[in-house]
Amino acid sequence: MAGRVPPGDFAGTSPVWLRQPEDVNALIPVLWSKTARKDDSGVLQIGGIAIPDLVADVNTPAYVLDEEDFRSRARAFRDGFAGYDVYYAGKAFLSVAVAKWVAEEGLCLDVCSNGELSVALRAGVDPKRIGYHGNNKTPMELRRAVVAGVGRIIVDSYAEIERLAAIVAELGVVQGVMVRVTAGVEAHTHEFIATAHEDQKFGFSISSGDGFAAAQAVIEAPGLDLRGLHSHIGSQIFDTSGWEVAARRVLGLHAEIGRELGHVMPEMDLGGGFGIAYTTQDDPADPADLARQITDIVARECAALQFPVPHLSIEPGRAIVGSSMCTVYTVGTVKQVTLDGGATRTYVSVDGGMSDNIRPALYDADYSCTLVSRASSAEPTLARVVGKHCESGDIVVKHEFLPGDIAPGDLVAVPGTGAYGRSMASNYNHALRPPVVAVRDGEARVIVRRETEDDLLATDLG
Ligand SMILES: *Cc1c(COP(=O)(O)O)cnc(C)c1O
Repeated sequence: MAGRVPPGDFAGTSPVWLRQPEDVNALIPVLWSKTARKDDSGVLQIGGIAIPDLVADVNTPAYVLDEEDFRSRARAFRDGFAGYDVYYAGKAFLSVAVAKWVAEEGLCLDVCSNGELSVALRAGVDPKRIGYHGNNKTPMELRRAVVAGVGRIIVDSYAEIERLAAIVAELGVVQGVMVRVTAGVEAHTHEFIATAHEDQKFGFSISSGDGFAAAQAVIEAPGLDLRGLHSHIGSQIFDTSGWEVAARRVLGLHAEIGRELGHVMPEMDLGGGFGIAYTTQDDPADPADLARQITDIVARECAALQFPVPHLSIEPGRAIVGSSMCTVYTVGTVKQVTLDGGATRTYVSVDGGMSDNIRPALYDADYSCTLVSRASSAEPTLARVVGKHCESGDIVVKHEFLPGDIAPGDLVAVPGTGAYGRSMASNYNHALRPPVVAVRDGEARVIVRRETEDDLLATDLG
């Protein structure tokens, strides 16, 4: 390991938020699922399962899903937001097993494609408790959702309202509908823009009058039952200031529709976007605290408008599944790279990458990483964990301190990969997408198996 940099000499090569750990073997609890811990030999255990034993069976890379953690986060939203309907946003991660857990814990489920609906129905989720999203649902998808008895379809365009009206007329049924509106608010972490340009594909703008007109079109369509307005303001949000501005605007429209069109909508949906901790930069709020604040905001606005408080719903995805899963990789190569100024960065290549986690490349997302197959007494070294794909942007973790003796054959794990990891995974470079292994009480169960070469070649007709 030539050129190892002494501790504390990483100024300028690592971000200011990344502190050199006192103990490079220790887990930082907020980043990990509830049952994750390291034993005396430095081996990571989740759900009572030692990770090296698990990968001896399923190989790497593998997503490990802590079932108890998932269920307890689902319950924390259900109980914290008591009196609301909590829709788990299936796009974050959905499988038949997970859809069953969602239903068992008393949550509703959001889908946004025909494929996600298939998984939900296969799992036996009550269709009345399913919400259907999307800005371009095909007539086939709409018809299937209506026939299946999906509780609410969130409409996103005039064309869709017309299509849906035609389908319900033909089938002679009544369909619950919400109208997705844009409030001009865009939120992320502790910041929000109250005058975000509405130059985006989702929703009907409130300020342009489209939100009102769309609601009117739904009210006038026989067979469409306008349940309420829907607004989703962003992702990875840590405080409620963005929701405050959005709720004021959406409730303003809600009251205007009630007064001018004589249609008092019984519901309102405030979307998802609740943040989790990917690194020590992040400080997620407790669902019950968020609920208290959001409930207060809505109550205050409704009082000011002299309008009854609608039945509220929210749609957390990341905040339920994100921290429940980690990805386990095997280290393949370790390379020292000399940076401008003479410091070195240790490039640690693992056996996955952008095919199993596109978020660093897509959103410049930060993650953390730790050695999970042994303890190390080596000094920490500044590392970058990279994948095996033919792309220099194929980064798994941009900045992390790993033990200086990290070596091929070591297992490392990246926490917080549950949301938009497996669900956005690709076959880039003809990678086989990794399995999802659920662990609980000393038992491991593969709930999504690893793809095989036969899976890959099945669509290649030669
Ligand atoms: C993506 C999305 C969600 C879930 O977002 P998270 O950041 O995962 O909580 C909820 N509602 C809608 C409409 C979405 O598009």
